[in-house]
Amino acid sequence: MNNSIKNLLVWYQKNERQLPWRQTSNPYYIWLSEVILQQTRVDQGLPYYIRFTEKYPDIALLASANEQDVFKLWQGLGYYSRATNMLKAAREIVSTYHSEFPKNMNLLMKLPGIGSYTAAAIASMAFNMPHGVVDGNVYRVLSRLYGIATPINSSRAHTQFLVLTEELMSTHSPALFNQAMMELGALVCKPQNPDCLACPLQSNCFAFSHKQQGDFPVKTPKAKQKTRYLTYYVISVTTNGHAQFFLNQRKSTGIWANLFDFPSFETHQPLPFDQAIHQAIDNGLLPNDSFNITQVSNEYKHLLTHRILRARFISIQISGAIPANLIKSLLLINQTSLSEYPVPVLVERYLRDVKLIE
Ligand code: SF4
Repeated sequence: MNNSIKNLLVWYQKNERQLPWRQTSNPYYIWLSEVILQQTRVDQGLPYYIRFTEKYPDIALLASANEQDVFKLWQGLGYYSRATNMLKAAREIVSTYHSEFPKNMNLLMKLPGIGSYTAAAIASMAFNMPHGVVDGNVYRVLSRLYGIATPINSSRAHTQFLVLTEELMSTHSPALFNQAMMELGALVCKPQNPDCLACPLQSNCFAFSHKQQGDFPVKTPKAKQKTRYLTYYVISVTTNGHAQFFLNQRKSTGIWANLFDFPSFETHQPLPFDQAIHQAIDNGLLPNDSFNITQVSNEYKHLLTHRILRARFISIQISGAIPANLIKSLLLINQTSLSEYPVPVLVERYLRDVKLIE
């Protein structure tokens, strides 16, 4: 196997994609790329990486950033808890470690949002420490290479694959080995139609020799995603000819933590229109009268990891007195300022469709 690993490293040096976080051993840039690329494809994450490194070229600048500015730059990537934790970790590194990433897995893993995977990526790629980085690509390559039938989404898989990765890398550069394995999975040992004839590991590969590439990796089927229904109230008032909208800042926990959206109700079944209006009146979102329904949107579907959201937006203009509850619990924002507030992608899609933002 050692010769195959040497072939892999040679292959990587000839074939690696020129990605900016590969051209550096600066832990800040490596960490940023890892945070951005979690749950995100490289082509989608690259522009975000460029924007972040241009606006915040070092960790001290990121640490001093305003949360809303960071969210705005993050908008469209989803999973906003990553951005929240990124900012917290940056502040902790600046305040506790004098802006230097600790060269220690345990200390790295104590930082917000940094789990064993990200810590291993920083430790190996920035500091060349011998820690294996096992992402989906590596699971696929190793499971095919050795014919491992352990479901890769089971709890024991991580330890098993990590031990194997660290054994294989033991006589090689950890930074190079980890990147080569991930790149092989991304470019050659792809989920469908792996290009085995171009693969540097082919002579040792179980799946290739048994023609079982399609049988690995093994995965336990996921539980069915639940569907939830969101009814949004896009409530506006017009003052001196200028439209203003009521925005809600979400709680600091749960999905879309700290982002802005419209007041809403989430239900297990679609909320019939009449009931949606009565519920809004009963909850003090609308007055008993003096309002006009101006539009009801089509349904917007949005996929989360464990849930499918189906959302509908009801546009309502209030013409009389504004309910006290609205003023107390929501922000009243000029239409022209709506684009300054970080919102979930689902809400952004709606705002663009109705031309409230560009
Ligand atoms: S030979 Fe084929 S299946 Fe085996 S590791 Fe290489 S690309 Fe993957």
